[in-house]
Amino acid sequence: MRVPRFFSTTSNDMAIDLGTVNTIVYLRDRGIVLNEPSVVAIELIQGLPRLRAFGMEAKLMIGRTPQGTSTVRPMRDGVIADVDIAEQMIKAFIDKAHGGPSRLPRRPDILVCIPSGATQVERRAIRQAGTNAGARRVRLIEEPMAAAIGAGLSINEPIGTMIVDIGGGTTEVAVLSLGNLVHHASARVGGDKMDDAIASSIRRNYNLVIGETTAERIKMEIGVARMPGDGRGLVMPVRGRDQVNGVPREIDICQADIAGPLSDLVDQVIETVLRTLGATAPELAADIHEHGIVMTGGGSLLTGISDALAQATGVPVIIAEDPLTSVAMGAGRALEDEAYSGVMIDS
Ligand code: ADP
Ligand code: MG
Repeated sequence: MRVPRFFSTTSNDMAIDLGTVNTIVYLRDRGIVLNEPSVVAIELIQGLPRLRAFGMEAKLMIGRTPQGTSTVRPMRDGVIADVDIAEQMIKAFIDKAHGGPSRLPRRPDILVCIPSGATQVERRAIRQAGTNAGARRVRLIEEPMAAAIGAGLSINEPIGTMIVDIGGGTTEVAVLSLGNLVHHASARVGGDKMDDAIASSIRRNYNLVIGETTAERIKMEIGVARMPGDGRGLVMPVRGRDQVNGVPREIDICQADIAGPLSDLVDQVIETVLRTLGATAPELAADIHEHGIVMTGGGSLLTGISDALAQATGVPVIIAEDPLTSVAMGAGRALEDEAYSGVMIDS
């Protein structure tokens, strides 16, 4: 039977993982339709800010903008560092996920992922931004919960599980059982701090100033949680600006140059995990010991970080299958599957 268009069951509801580094949109019954950097380029026109580019296009402009234009990461320093700009960014992503503003059959319901440590004020700001960006109803889901669902853990069972999500701005550690967050801890350490640490150590040791995108590339290519052996390790050529005479220069950077600062940050992640394990009731701790800790977030892809965590805790550590998308996948599944309706926060 042909269903009249009016009764079409296609929904335009979506889940949004609004990360400090990446934003991922999951369209109900469709899956992930957008995955782009949480970056906007803002242009001042007669003193008023206007969105010039967003996502991938804006990321390419970082460190390369002409006068009057600047790139901003509105989620950078917390939940929402800049409300107005975050709102414009969310709106741009919602429209793009639907293939343009004109195609919207009705205003969508959105499910936004938030860090478990988000305050009431921050939660309200997210809701407001979602509503202003055109959503009919805004619901929230805590990121560790979404990450656990996305990683395929059965969160509704009476079994303790631990999620360690290393994002751009923060590391979130959470213990879940029976569909609830039993413990959570958050540390302001993540991918951004790793990039900063790499850039400062290169500036200090080589008088070479590099941009944040270059620092991130170094981390992804040769970054290590722990220096293997005492050699210099892998080497890669890096371009930047000489701090003394200002001219462009290329040098070879090796793993040993950056391993120390990265290892200090990894220690901060480990401390947060140990603190949380220490506060966990014995039965739940035993479950975690048996089933292992699950890591998600882009930071879990740093070479050697899961081994370092396993060694420090004595607990097996598993990296989620696709750690960059587990939060969005889990939130999407929560939208689609009745079994998870309890984990969405309505108001
Ligand atoms: P958020 O949720 O805060 O947006 P993500 O979970 O998307 O963060 O992770 C983004 C972070 O992961 C960035 O800092 C990025 O540099 C880092 N990252 C991505 N891939 C790798 C990799 N292979 N090695 C180390 N860090 C990585
Ligand atoms: Mg995240």
